[in-house]
Amino acid sequence: MLKKITLANTPTPIQKIQFMETDLPVNLYFKRDDLTGSGLSGNKIRKLEYLLQKAISDGITDIITCGGIQSNHCRATALACARLGLEAHLLLAGNEEQEKEGNNFLDILAGGKQRFISEKEYDEKRDSIMEEWKREIEEESDKKALVIPMGASCGLGSFGYSDCFEEILLQEKEMGISFDSIVITVGSGGSLAGLIYGNEKNHGKKEILGISIAASREEAIEGMVLPILEEMKTLDEVRYDIKSANFDVINGYQGLGYAKSTIEELEFIRDFVSQTGIILDPVYTGKATYGLISEILNGRWSEGRNILFVHTGGAFGWTREQIKMLLSI
Ligand SMILES: *Cc1c(COP(=O)(O)O)cnc(C)c1O
Repeated sequence: MLKKITLANTPTPIQKIQFMETDLPVNLYFKRDDLTGSGLSGNKIRKLEYLLQKAISDGITDIITCGGIQSNHCRATALACARLGLEAHLLLAGNEEQEKEGNNFLDILAGGKQRFISEKEYDEKRDSIMEEWKREIEEESDKKALVIPMGASCGLGSFGYSDCFEEILLQEKEMGISFDSIVITVGSGGSLAGLIYGNEKNHGKKEILGISIAASREEAIEGMVLPILEEMKTLDEVRYDIKSANFDVINGYQGLGYAKSTIEELEFIRDFVSQTGIILDPVYTGKATYGLISEILNGRWSEGRNILFVHTGGAFGWTREQIKMLLSI
């Protein structure tokens, strides 16, 4: 058995969503992984439970990880490190001069050390820069550092979402309901991979769908999900045949790309939040929920199907720029 520490408040609730209810032909539910904690919240926490357990077992003193300037993952890592007495080092893509806000401010509040690189450098060299940073830290004294990849989307971290899948199975029993499809936002792909793994381990009865917010369908499947699933297989005691797994990544809702919003997306988010009381973020869950509702309205699912969307958090990702844009609509 792989071990993990406890960071998340689980099980997270599953709630029926009252949005455009008379118009939606399916039964829509949200699993509230935005409620895994307050600041220490969202989907990254489930992945960090495995990775930080490993860090503690291995005598690690410093964690290095990376993300966009408004990375939810970096904020969650900084707060988790603060809680566990580890030092967090965050490699961020973006401009250091930008006024501090949202996640980027919370990183600092939590004592995280930040380094900034350009988006180009980030895309091309983030892993080698993090390895170099690790060497620097370890040269300094008797420190030992662990590099956690972008989004904590590696094999070990993704077991957090295999566990989430099993949590859903227990909740189905309690609720007397069976979900036909489980849908989740895809950024770096680890959360989707974990759900697929959990489904396969439990005989693959459900359809698992990702909605990509940046990568193309092909990039997401070939470049992210399948390699993570392979890595998960090598870590687990039992082997499953992943090739025939029932999953897909829905294309077409990336909009203007990572962390960029369209007017339609922001309008949708405002309608959704004002009708449900559930906060969506502009980078991940806003785009994915917009995609999900569009797919429902386009007849992807037949009437009466039970659809579960895993809400992965992200509320701190609202920037001044996006707020201004929303308020001007
Ligand atoms: C990181 C993140 C995702 C994407 O999860 P991955 O496992 O990287 O695909 C979705 N929603 C929010 C709010 C996130 O921070």
